[in-house]
Amino acid sequence: MEEYGVIIIGAGPAGLSAAAKLAERKINALVLDRKQEIGCPKRCAEGLGLGWFRRLGLKPSKEWAVMPIYGAALYSPLGKSVVLKAKKVAGYVLERKMFEKALAIDAVKKGAKIRLKSNVKSARRENGNVVIDVNELGEIKQYSAPLIIACDGIDSRIARMLGLDTTNKLPDVDSGFQYELTGIDGYDEKLLHLYFGNEISPRGYCWIFPKRRGTANVGIGIAGYAEKTAKYYLDKFIASHPNLSKGSIIEVNSGGIPVGGFLEKMHSDNLLIAGDAAHQVDPIHGGGIGISMEAGALAAEVASEAVAKNDFSEKFLGKYTQKWYALRGNQLKKRLKGRHLLEKLSDADFEYLADSITADDVLKIASGDLDKKAKFILFAKKLVKRPGLVKIMMKYL
Ligand SMILES: Cc1cc2nc3c(=O)[nH]c(=O)nc-3n(C[C@H](O)[C@H](O)[C@H](O)COP(=O)(O)OP(=O)(O)OC[C@H]3O[C@@H](n4cnc5c(N)ncnc54)[C@H](O)[C@@H]3O)c2cc1C
Repeated sequence: MEEYGVIIIGAGPAGLSAAAKLAERKINALVLDRKQEIGCPKRCAEGLGLGWFRRLGLKPSKEWAVMPIYGAALYSPLGKSVVLKAKKVAGYVLERKMFEKALAIDAVKKGAKIRLKSNVKSARRENGNVVIDVNELGEIKQYSAPLIIACDGIDSRIARMLGLDTTNKLPDVDSGFQYELTGIDGYDEKLLHLYFGNEISPRGYCWIFPKRRGTANVGIGIAGYAEKTAKYYLDKFIASHPNLSKGSIIEVNSGGIPVGGFLEKMHSDNLLIAGDAAHQVDPIHGGGIGISMEAGALAAEVASEAVAKNDFSEKFLGKYTQKWYALRGNQLKKRLKGRHLLEKLSDADFEYLADSITADDVLKIASGDLDKKAKFILFAKKLVKRPGLVKIMMKYL
């Protein structure tokens, strides 16, 4: 049996970020992933805002930050748009396979070890350690460590193996489906394009995330309980846009997105959970790359304190859950209310909003500079013919 200081299960953004931080602190860290290639297949539209580059200390590299983005265009069900465009780059669309490989190379350079085709089949506590059974390239191996960081994504089973139920409830999961399309045009390649409406995309939105000239991730995220599949709605959307339907598919991606069932506890004895496995995703737009990397780094910080104190108890590791809510979770809980707001809007509401609210209004609201009274006045003026909408907006804000 091989023994490590910390074992991380899952080599996605959460796991690779945790591995790099542990290795920086000279902790003997091993990352196991069942995939045969890091970053592949991607389950992602690959958008990452500039704020995350700053927060995570990432420098955009031409190798993986492939398309600079200057803002977003939001479309109502009938196609009216509100365009938010900045003069400076606001984020990038990534080539995630290259991005994750760059994260992996960085972690290994710092001293972490990674093993692929390593599917963790079971985990149990034994004499203060966790012992895991792994199917590694067809061979059964055992590893042990006093601490496991479960970064095993939306299908997470590791926490459950160690007695913590992290099952997602159906209303808190979106279903994502996407084609990488090439040979398409007719949209501004400097913007992300988001299409709203209950007919188009129940509870969610369709997107075009430009990736290269004439190539984009065209996808959809919808409520997991929607009547039809995400593929059905996406195909319908593409069929109604001749500039997209003439394209060819070069990749198909699908996956679930945990959008709001935040966990009260993301730790137990010998265990921390980070990333999608801990439901750490923005409940409004479903973005989780930055949030999972931040959480992976935080888990590594608490893990290294646990190693220094040789304390892997639930009590000590509870610091992680506490710190995550203070750093990000409480803010995301507020944003969950935004998702609930979107769920209440009818297609007629979306049209009315598109007619009345300007890009300037959206920026003013998003800036956080308006107090509650100023927001009420803005909405009351703009939405005078729909007092019901003012009520919904104010409840959220
Ligand atoms: C369609 C779609 C579009 C999205 N678009 C965006 C976007 O544009 N921007 C954004 O920020 N986020 C987006 N997301 C969300 C983002 O992809 C996730 O939040 C992010 O990947 C979470 O990272 P993670 O490391 O927690 O999990 P993952 O990236 O899912 O990594 C988990 C890893 O664990 C491994 N694993 C699981 N079980 C085991 C096991 N038993 N043994 C060994 N290994 C195991 C898996 O193979 C996997 O590599 C999107 C998601 C979807 C589905």
